[in-house]
Amino acid sequence: MTDHSPVIQVHDLKKTYQSGLLRKRVINALRGVTLEIPRGRIYGLLGPNGAGKTTLIKVLLGIVRRTSGSATVLGMPAGRIAARHRIGYLPENHRIPRHLTGRTALEYYGCLSGMAIGEVRRRIPELIDKVGLKGRDRDRVSGYSKGMQQRLGLAQAMLHRPELIILDEPTDGVDPVGRTEIREVLRGLASEGTSIFLNSHLLQEIELICESVAILQQGRLCHTGTIRDLTRAVAESPIAFHLAGSHETISQCVQNNDVRSFKATEKSGGAGEQQEFLVDIVLVGQQATDALVDRLRAKQVSILRMSRRQLTLEEAFMQLIREDKQ
Ligand code: ATP
Repeated sequence: MTDHSPVIQVHDLKKTYQSGLLRKRVINALRGVTLEIPRGRIYGLLGPNGAGKTTLIKVLLGIVRRTSGSATVLGMPAGRIAARHRIGYLPENHRIPRHLTGRTALEYYGCLSGMAIGEVRRRIPELIDKVGLKGRDRDRVSGYSKGMQQRLGLAQAMLHRPELIILDEPTDGVDPVGRTEIREVLRGLASEGTSIFLNSHLLQEIELICESVAILQQGRLCHTGTIRDLTRAVAESPIAFHLAGSHETISQCVQNNDVRSFKATEKSGGAGEQQEFLVDIVLVGQQATDALVDRLRAKQVSILRMSRRQLTLEEAFMQLIREDKQ
């Protein structure tokens, strides 16, 4: 029977660090987080620096002890050994001993996690193939690029066929080709039923691979749900204009309080003062759109084309964070 229970359940989770002289400095890293992550998905965790993302991951893994609230992973209390055996983890800035080869590194991590060496060796060829390190697995890690090290880290997280893989910045420092390869590996895992919880600063990456996200801000959740819902929940609408007029006039019309951002690119064509521009504008609400069109027309700027586009995850994220701070 298929298991539809959530892979992660967190209720009113709080974590307070005490640091400094006499541990008098109190930092509320998690201030009552409630979250449920469904099975079999690639789920993104977002938030600005210091929002509490790594703390949440560490509580889920049992590396950090929660102050209060509850956290359950795969139906067991977070940190329990039996739960840990069913989780794969790739930490942020992980360091694989550089004198090992890709293959011996996997043997080392497999044995550390309690797997029998025979089982690890049987598993290695498939994993090496999966993460695209075939032909390089007998080379020393010291000669690996950052992308190759991340892919080896991913293979390490997958060794014991975990049901849940938690990744902290898996594509950090990896070039676009390497990121595409890592995405492919993650998609393959998800299609086989593995649940993936992914913390990344790279919102474009998250947008390409995750269906749903949770956004943390100052230790609190400010949004959970699908990326589609998130981009719809924001009142801002981006509009792509193709305009003809002088640069100065267009700039005057666009610079207004209800215009959140704009980017103008000159398009070839047009003569003299009448140049053509592609202008991408993020406006707040329909009234703002109407008012901008009125301003442009009042100044004889021609609107050659105007079309709404989908808000990107990055734009929606920035707006939510702004709203949350207000
Ligand atoms: P980043 O994106 O920068 O990695 P984050 O969202 O992962 O940030 P955390 O690393 O969880 O955030 O940190 C949340 C808060 O808790 C920050 O204010 C941080 O300084 C503090 N913090 C984290 N670990 C500790 C610790 N061991 N002792 C004291 N404070 C800590």
